[in-house]
Amino acid sequence: MPELPEVETVRRGLQPVMEGALIVRLEQRRADLRFPFPPDFAARLTGRRITAMGRRAKYLLADLDDGMVLVCHLGMSGSFRIEPDGEEALSPGVFHHPRSKDDRHDHVVFHLDGPAGRARVIYNDPRRFGYMDLLPRDALAEHPWFRGLGIEPTGNSLDADELARRLAGKTAPLKAALLDQRIIAGLGNIYVCEAMWRARLSPLKPAGRLVTKSGQPRVSLQRLAVDVRAVISEAIAAGGSSLRDHIQTDGTLGYFQHGFSVYDREGKTCPRPGCGDTVRRVVQSGRSTFLCPRCQKE
Ligand SMILES: [Zn+2]
Repeated sequence: MPELPEVETVRRGLQPVMEGALIVRLEQRRADLRFPFPPDFAARLTGRRITAMGRRAKYLLADLDDGMVLVCHLGMSGSFRIEPDGEEALSPGVFHHPRSKDDRHDHVVFHLDGPAGRARVIYNDPRRFGYMDLLPRDALAEHPWFRGLGIEPTGNSLDADELARRLAGKTAPLKAALLDQRIIAGLGNIYVCEAMWRARLSPLKPAGRLVTKSGQPRVSLQRLAVDVRAVISEAIAAGGSSLRDHIQTDGTLGYFQHGFSVYDREGKTCPRPGCGDTVRRVVQSGRSTFLCPRCQKE
C-alpha cells in the first residue's frame, strides 16, 4: 500500500502533464476497479480541462473546469505512467519495486493535450484495489471519504498547538493516536514509528500526556510536530516508499533500508550516535511498532 509520501510523489510527477491539460479522449477499459466507475465516466471527462492537480490524505484530486473533481485512490498496487508522444514512458514516483508495466492491467487511459504537449496518462492496477470517482468540488469536504479527516502531515498546518488541541485528554497510546486518521490524515505506520523515535517518545505513553492541564503543548509535543513534518518531507524528497514494495524488495533500489532509523530494523543497533541499544519490535493493536527502548523513554 503506497504511503502518503509516495502518493505525493505521484502527484508531483503528474502535475506538469495534467494541470492545465484538456482531456481529448478517455479510454475506460473495464466497468469497475475496487468499485464501479461512476455512470458515463468517459463521456463526462471528455472535453474537460484539468485546472489543478491536488491531494488530500492518500487521494489524488484532479479539479475539472466544470466544478467536478476526479478523485483517485491508488489502492494496493495502482500506478500511473506517462507516455509523451514519441518518447519513452515515464513513471512518476520512485517506487521501491518496479510497478507493473503489463498493459493487460492498464485500465484507464487519459489522452491529454496540455502545456507539456500531447501525452497519454495511463492508470495501471494489477490487483484493482484502487478506485476513481467524480465528485462535486463544493461537496467534497462532506463526502464520507473526506469528512472527519484530520490535518495533513505536510506543511505548517500540523503544528504543536493544533496537535495539543487534538490530543488533549486522550488516554490512547501515542502510537494509536498518531495513526488515527481523524487526528492526522494519511500518516502511516512507517512514518509514525520514525517520528516517535526521532522525538525520543515512547509509543506506549498516553497521548494526552503531551499536553499540559491548561491545553498547551509540552516541549515533547513541539519536538514531535517538527519531527512528523520532517520524516514526511524527507520521504517525499526521497521519492516515497511503500510497505508492500519493501517486503518484495529485490535489493536493486535499496536506498530506503538505510533511510529508516527504526522501522523494520528489529535487532539492529539504534542509529542515534552514542546510544548503542538494540531496536525492538512490539505489537500494538495488531501492528508492529519499532522502537529503541533506551532513546524512547520519555
Ligand atoms: Zn537509541
